[in-house]
Amino acid sequence: MTDKAPKNPKKPLIFYYAITLVILMLLNALLFPSLMQRQVTEVGYNEFLSMVDQGQVETVVYETDEQRIVFEAKKEDGKTAVFKTGMFPDDKLVERLDKAGVQFAAQIPTQTSPILSILLSYIFPIVLIIVVGQWLSKKMMKSMGGNTMTFGKANAKIYAETETGKTFADVAGQDEAKEALAEIVDFLHNPNKYAAIGAKLPKGALLVGPPGTGKTLLAKAVAGEAHVPFFSISGSEFVEMFVGMGAAKVRDLFKQASEKAPCIVFIDEIDTIGKKRDGGGLGGNDEREQTLNQLLTEMDGFDGTKGVVILAATNRPESLDPALLRPGRFDRRVPVELPDLKGREAILRVHAKEVHMSGRIDYNAIARATSGASGADLANIINEAALRAVRLGRSTVEQCDLEESVEVVIAGYQRKNAVLSPREKEIVAYHEIGHALVAAKQSDSAPVTKITIVPRTSGALGYTMQVDEGDRYLMSKTEAENKLATLTGGRAAEELIFGSVTTGASNDIEQATKLARAMITRFGMSRKFDMVALETVGNSYLGGDASLACSNETATLIDQEVIATVKTAHEKAIGILQNNMEVLHRFAAHLLERETITGEEFMSLLNRT
Ligand code: ADP
Ligand code: MG
Ligand code: ZN
Repeated sequence: MTDKAPKNPKKPLIFYYAITLVILMLLNALLFPSLMQRQVTEVGYNEFLSMVDQGQVETVVYETDEQRIVFEAKKEDGKTAVFKTGMFPDDKLVERLDKAGVQFAAQIPTQTSPILSILLSYIFPIVLIIVVGQWLSKKMMKSMGGNTMTFGKANAKIYAETETGKTFADVAGQDEAKEALAEIVDFLHNPNKYAAIGAKLPKGALLVGPPGTGKTLLAKAVAGEAHVPFFSISGSEFVEMFVGMGAAKVRDLFKQASEKAPCIVFIDEIDTIGKKRDGGGLGGNDEREQTLNQLLTEMDGFDGTKGVVILAATNRPESLDPALLRPGRFDRRVPVELPDLKGREAILRVHAKEVHMSGRIDYNAIARATSGASGADLANIINEAALRAVRLGRSTVEQCDLEESVEVVIAGYQRKNAVLSPREKEIVAYHEIGHALVAAKQSDSAPVTKITIVPRTSGALGYTMQVDEGDRYLMSKTEAENKLATLTGGRAAEELIFGSVTTGASNDIEQATKLARAMITRFGMSRKFDMVALETVGNSYLGGDASLACSNETATLIDQEVIATVKTAHEKAIGILQNNMEVLHRFAAHLLERETITGEEFMSLLNRT
């Protein structure tokens, strides 16, 4: 349950106006009960004159402005009441009134109670103006997106959750991260234990890892495990239109948190405010810098034994200001990496609990096919599979749904209505079989698990999937060279069979070039450059591009070497296919007919030749 808690201690002013109004009315009713009911009766001029003559009239006032006479007179029952009548030019009237002993009153006989009339004539309009004014200004502030009047007052969107409802059981894999955070949970459970011995726990921990690996989830799980409130705010929410607002938000966040201690404060995407401060610029970064400074100050300021733990998440740790990372601040760094094979299987199982799965699901197979997928990708795969099952009118998710959704998530939706001409289809079939054959005919190469020529929305007209048996952390030079040959195998088949080439190999070319370049510049796999790092990788988490770190002459040499490497692999692929021409033709025909061949089918066909 997320409830926004913009704590505003001030009751709106209108509340006080309402109370004052009610009190005045009550006073009025108590003090002047008779006046409240006093009514003014209108009478004709004739009647007025006859009342004068009968001696009923006691006091009279001429209201020349209003062109009327207001008078008090006794009624039949003996009570005095207020009357009014129109004024007529009557010279004798004064004489006549005098004769009847009528008093000429100094004051108009009150028609309404004094308090009520003051209320109505003075206070009510003022209140109305203020209320309308406030309403308008509030509306304006809303449309401006900031609280212009209360500068420095917190209107931060701080999301406080009393219970996140997540536990470590919801986070699959990530055992190292969970272990690192378990201590924080224990600390929040029992801060006194640590205080007693004089130990200071780290004030903050920084969760670092690629997007979708469960950083936010882990932070929530820590709060859930420790049963403490969870304050979360995203770094971007600190950056406001007005300078100083971000800093105020930080101040307020920490004030609220220390009131609720023990608790967790979670700052998501901290890199938006925590970027390295640099001297230059046109002063445009003032706001961010102020916010960061305030954050640093607050982190230093609060009492570490109280039980406020700050977690932050980022996927660009290298861009963070070093001041944030020094001891006493986010000195603990918890890596949250992409899940490995075991982790992927565990994540699939966690999310599978939420949907009806058929009894016979091979999670391991799915996990093996999704190397490189993040937790969020895997959650998405399960959901896509469930959607597909519904689409096909089934009530449980089957293995085939999962397999299909792996491809959907990895390669985009099947493009059923993309119509390829028979000739194009033939080219694609040979191309894919080319990849598969080159892969299969080399020893150190991942087994082929699927070949298909069903086009995808992502633009691929077909693809050959290779899946390793286990997780791979190292790639030998031979394996890299084999992979290069496999990548060039598609184009090689096209050349051999059709004598011309198509645009279909663009993705292969891109991948091959990347791999060849990395072999030379980063993995030291070329004789020419030996173990010299020629490139540095910017951000390893966001798949950042490498940048050259060498002279222009060397860059030229690297390019030549890359070309030579790819060329060698290409020639190797052509050689392999030339030796297996007959198999190539037969398999391509088979694929054309079936559109999809599984890995097992492929291997058994291959073994029979
Ligand atoms: P991040 O903050 O690292 O970008 P999130 O924590 O927002 O990633 O994760 C997004 C979603 O992916 C989560 O809500 C969850 O459903 C799923 N997910 C990610 N990692 C895991 C994991 N280790 N175990 C279970 N689910 C995960
Ligand atoms: Mg996140
Ligand atoms: Zn290809």
